[in-house]
Amino acid sequence: MLCPVCNGLQPLFAQCENCHEPLSDLGRIADWTGPYAPYEPWEASEQQYEQTAETTHCKHIAFCLNCERTVDVGITEWM
Ligand SMILES: [Zn+2]
Ligand SMILES: [Zn+2]
Repeated sequence: MLCPVCNGLQPLFAQCENCHEPLSDLGRIADWTGPYAPYEPWEASEQQYEQTAETTHCKHIAFCLNCERTVDVGITEWM
């Protein structure tokens, strides 16, 4: 399984449900949970993702510059 966004094959395409501006990709959620994770609160939500994680999706964090909020986006992985 291969995430096209992680591998640079496809840009992350997601819209803010609030303002419909395109979101910018901040990377995989998995990359945010290491010892260098910038935000502590993600540790709590990460456990939630572990339980509900679908193996066919790569979870990314996207950010809306307009609303200044982060959204999690599930990228469908390629076979
Ligand atoms: Zn990915
Ligand atoms: Zn927005």
